[in-house]
Amino acid sequence: MHLHTVVEPCRGVVVANERCTASKKAAGFVRHVSIDVSGTQLAGNFRPGQSFGVVPPGLDSNGNNHKLRLYSIASPTRGEDGRGAIVATTVKRLIDEHWETSKLFLGVASNYLCDLKPGDEVTMTGPAGKRFLLPAEPSKHNYLFIATGTGIAPFRGMILDLLEGSPAVLSSPTLAPSGTGVTFLMGSPYASDLIYHRDLGELAQRHGNFRYWTALSRERQSADAGDPSLAGAKAMYVQDRLTAIPGELERLLDGGKTLIYICGIAGMELGIFQSMARTLSPALLAKYLEVDPEAMGRIDAWDRKMIHKQVKPTKRVFLEVY
Ligand code: FAD
Repeated sequence: MHLHTVVEPCRGVVVANERCTASKKAAGFVRHVSIDVSGTQLAGNFRPGQSFGVVPPGLDSNGNNHKLRLYSIASPTRGEDGRGAIVATTVKRLIDEHWETSKLFLGVASNYLCDLKPGDEVTMTGPAGKRFLLPAEPSKHNYLFIATGTGIAPFRGMILDLLEGSPAVLSSPTLAPSGTGVTFLMGSPYASDLIYHRDLGELAQRHGNFRYWTALSRERQSADAGDPSLAGAKAMYVQDRLTAIPGELERLLDGGKTLIYICGIAGMELGIFQSMARTLSPALLAKYLEVDPEAMGRIDAWDRKMIHKQVKPTKRVFLEVY
């Protein structure tokens, strides 16, 4: 970790920058940005679940250098190129109205990254992060990955490591045997905003042990939502999708063998934990969440502040929300 710091950053060169939402009509602008880090300490030294830092050029409104922003690594361990020399991330342009002035507000680093062209240089740090990783022995578990928005980034890399990892180029191969169940649930407002949708659909066709589910929160469920019985069902969030088919979540968790990874918009974990608490048997729930008996009696009233206090994820749950 921290092979390059703000004091000793490295220079990567952008090799590709393309939209990665399902349709050009998507409400948000999300791009897959690939950066060549050959000749730097980052090359061959990153894992999906880690992030790298980007230092945008120029000064902030106080005249100081811009601070670095973190971006999740969306590549498998072998990188985009198979040799760990090209690392990619999934960037969403932050575009809004300013909270106070109501003028257009453009996030500095996200728009800088999304505007970069092949050949442009970018100042980088990292890699950072040691908690949100695949386990050392991937074949001992099944996986339930749940994402919203750019929270998909680490899961793209992890899923590729698990399903199509290339042990020949990895120091610690993460390729899981075909018996390992990998389920990815992506939450999105509309089908047009689904990220890496076609690639994930193709992976699901190629690998019988990989399930790709979607939960659309502002429109009815699309026909390729992962289960034909849900086509046309009403709008739902990821936590509703988990319990949409009776008994499915229990089967997926396989008595506790499954690890749950959650990444995306801060707060998304609350609804997921509530769904789990409402649905799972006490014995199965205890493998994933340690809930105060008093809190168990008022699940509907849980709020985010209770997480890590009255509602504690166990070591089988990995959280990265921002
Ligand atoms: P900034 O210029 O930093 O603006 C954002 C800040 O401005 C906010 O902190 C907020 O205080 C303020 N602000 C926001 N909206 C408004 C408004 N309307 N009016 C006034 N002020 C406002 N992002 C990704 O896109 N992809 C990733 O893979 C990714 N991975 C991450 C991984 C980690 C571990 C973390 C911590 C963050 C990650 N992020 C990711 C978020 C990313 O680091 C940046 O925070 C994000 O891109 C916004 O940065 P920015 O420079 O564009 O915005």
